[in-house]
Amino acid sequence: MSAEPSSKEVTQLRRRLRAYVSQAKENERKLGRLHEFEIALISASGLNELLEIVINGYRDTAQLESVGLLLVDDNYEIRHLLDESGITEDTFPGLRLISNRSVLARIRETQGIWMGLYEGDSHAIYFPDPQTRQLESVALLPLERGGVVIGYFTLGSAEPGRYVAGVGSAFLERMARFIAVCIENAINHEKVKRLGLIDALTGIYNRRYFDQRLLEEVRRSLRNRTPVACLYLDIDHFKHINDTWGHFTGDGVLRQVAATIRGQLRLSDVLARYGGEEFVLLLADTGQALASEIAERIRSAIARQEFDTDTEDSLRATISIGIGTLEDFGSNDADATAQALLNHADQALYRAKHNGRNRCEVHSS
Ligand code: GH3
Ligand code: MG
Ligand code: MG
Repeated sequence: MSAEPSSKEVTQLRRRLRAYVSQAKENERKLGRLHEFEIALISASGLNELLEIVINGYRDTAQLESVGLLLVDDNYEIRHLLDESGITEDTFPGLRLISNRSVLARIRETQGIWMGLYEGDSHAIYFPDPQTRQLESVALLPLERGGVVIGYFTLGSAEPGRYVAGVGSAFLERMARFIAVCIENAINHEKVKRLGLIDALTGIYNRRYFDQRLLEEVRRSLRNRTPVACLYLDIDHFKHINDTWGHFTGDGVLRQVAATIRGQLRLSDVLARYGGEEFVLLLADTGQALASEIAERIRSAIARQEFDTDTEDSLRATISIGIGTLEDFGSNDADATAQALLNHADQALYRAKHNGRNRCEVHSS
């Protein structure tokens, strides 16, 4: 049998236990903050808002002296995109686009996350904003996509103990992965927008993009003999909504409907505004049963939603959906097959309207 612990040992054990508990609480707080930050990131509506959250938002919530975002921009592509949105490095003092070859080479030499005391000259390059003088400890997080460093997220604190090698690096690594994905998506989205393939009101794809993708997907479907579904969606009595609430509120409803539909989709699905209050949706690798399920989920999400107006009141709206699917791979005329698929969805939509609206119908030949 072991002897009873001495009172000195008990005191030590208590102290250690308190330290563990306080560490666990601190981790829980950090995780909560991280989670909120991630939600804000994925909700960002565009590059401008994303930069605001990543740079200024993080600096304020984490109470840091300096937060920097360095983005590799060897062919000046990002600079052009930002120019067109009216953003410059002056808009975000923490932002730096790196096009200079020697700086790029130095940045790319660094591997993995780095945490520790601020090393003046050799670290200054990572901190674009001018408050760098007060820094004591820093974390340098590479942002990677597909094995390539697309930039750096850099954190600088006036406390020497804030960033210590190895301590809390798992949190930061996870955050860096998240930021990298969001930045890549936002840049891709900006590029598509620039090509005139995005609908300005709703932020989803436009008809031109959809027609292109429809043809591609139908070609793929015919080649691989995998099904593809096309949905035609039309807001019910939208004219009445405009007449009652005005065009401005009508526009808001269009935007909210687009966002709600998008919220029900997978990344591979293609949603577009096809005209006025009509949307089309392309579901790759999807047969009739799954397409009906997805359509019903969208219909009920819209029916449950309360739409914001410019008054205190909210309004309700419903949507009708027609479903066409391509499951017969006999043809080798992709153009005609794509046209037929869209027509089938349109005909099914007509039936949904005829049968009372706020419903989904499948095309039957
Ligand atoms: P149904 O249930 O049969 O679809 O009836 P509906 O009233 O929705 O259909 P209709 O085609 O008669 O009316 C569509 C309306 O959508 C008419 C048009 O003024 C309005 N609209 C089209 N584009 C926009 C837009 O960008 N903003 C707003 N606010 N209204 C639009
Ligand atoms: Mg219509
Ligand atoms: Mg309508």
